[in-house]
Amino acid sequence: MVMILIKISIIIIIQEINRNVGMMMATIYVFNPITNLMETFNRGLDEPMPYNVGNTLSVREFRANSRTPVVWTDRRTMQSWNTFRAQYGRSIYVGFAFKRIWEGGHTGQSQHYAGNAFDMGQNLTSAGRAAMREVADSSGVWSYVEPANLTPTWVHVDRRFGVPACAAGGFPTLSVGSRGVYVLVLQDALNALGYTGAGLDGYFGNGTRLAVVSFQRAQGLGADGVVGCATWERLTSLANGVGLTSTVVRP
Ligand SMILES: [Zn+2]
Repeated sequence: MVMILIKISIIIIIQEINRNVGMMMATIYVFNPITNLMETFNRGLDEPMPYNVGNTLSVREFRANSRTPVVWTDRRTMQSWNTFRAQYGRSIYVGFAFKRIWEGGHTGQSQHYAGNAFDMGQNLTSAGRAAMREVADSSGVWSYVEPANLTPTWVHVDRRFGVPACAAGGFPTLSVGSRGVYVLVLQDALNALGYTGAGLDGYFGNGTRLAVVSFQRAQGLGADGVVGCATWERLTSLANGVGLTSTVVRP
């Protein structure tokens, strides 16, 4: 009995320490397309990502070299990971995955900023990476598996949702009523550039629309409040790698 009480006390103390040391806990937004809701989880960095099966992907691995206390993804991306990981059958080293757009490091409309991409296998030989790419291709669960000639020293896979606003690819058109990880990227970029009326919640409501219109006006774009190709291109080129500005929300 005493031992149990001691154990419970220790667990409570550890949980308290985890809560108090900021970077040891992360907030994870997961868009669930079944309910059309953005779900919120608070987890330690060494806990599995939400919807992760078999503890094959920790929050720390998903956050990779990003330093943000808030990350996001789509439930379908986690399901793709689960299927791919089960077919691959071994542990996977993830060098890069989630990144916020103001942190930079990827192309402007990269799925890494939406929490839908993984750069893996940096620890393997090129033959090992070729084998991993083959499983990624044959699994059929990824929208895109980058060819070896583009990224020879890692394996990039991602999920893509919706029809890209630009013919060249990238994020889908967003407007009032849109929900999900691309809305989070939009809000994150707007906030970083000082258009702060919208917070960071993954819901494109009137606050987000007003911020988009302000941005469009300031940039001489058609101020229709709809985030199409021209707005995405301007916004992502300005916000990509801009750094931790004073208006970033939940830095
Ligand atoms: Zn990548």
